Amino acid sequence: MIPFSDLARAAFCPRQCYYARRVGERSIPPEARTRIDLAFRYPELVDAPDATLRRLPIRRSPAAYRRILDRLRERPVYDRLVDPVRERAYVSGRDCHGLIQKVIEPPTAPVPEGDTAADGSEGESNGGESPRAPVIVSPGEPPEEGVWEPQSVRAVAAAKALAWELQRPVRRAYLEYPTVGVVRELTMTTRRKAAYRRALRAVRSIDGPPARVDDNRCTGCAYRERCGSKRRSLRSLLT
Ligand code: SF4
Repeated sequence: MIPFSDLARAAFCPRQCYYARRVGERSIPPEARTRIDLAFRYPELVDAPDATLRRLPIRRSPAAYRRILDRLRERPVYDRLVDPVRERAYVSGRDCHGLIQKVIEPPTAPVPEGDTAADGSEGESNGGESPRAPVIVSPGEPPEEGVWEPQSVRAVAAAKALAWELQRPVRRAYLEYPTVGVVRELTMTTRRKAAYRRALRAVRSIDGPPARVDDNRCTGCAYRERCGSKRRSLRSLLT
């Protein structure tokens, strides 16, 4: 059974996944945990004074952050996010397992049946869409559009594990970025599921260090020295 975090790492760089598995590195750093916890405090933060917001790891000015949360409050998903069906739920599927920060009832119309099922049975539909969706909370910022590939893989893994538990297709997931108040909905497209399966194969095939990716991904990688990547960190380029 593979942890969601290993799949996300393998989608980023299989070699990084190899190092993380060797050292058993799966804990969330305290700073990241504090940022994730913001996703459970919106009702308190939406009207919080500047002094309170300045003490928090938000990535916008206090006034901008309040405006963003105010707009988020207008979206149908907001009520589901502040009152999820489950919080910090451990979910175990057929192939992978891990923590889902929130399980919510999706506010939008069901995704039609077809090849979009994440039902744990690789494409077979076993009924109508489940009235549940996983929410993955990221401590970072999103790209301009969509979500980062490793997060997409983690979201599909979470949807598949949840579907396995519920024995119903889970056809959507949400990515929440509380430091900037952004929430994005994902559907289980063929492309996303293919990326998930690639990551699954990559993790399963690790029996020694995979090839280096040796590109921009290496500059912020915690295993850069051990890996021997020639890519230098931004910090080292500036000093
Ligand atoms: S330094 Fe680059 S190749 Fe090496 S593990 Fe990190 S991301 Fe992968």
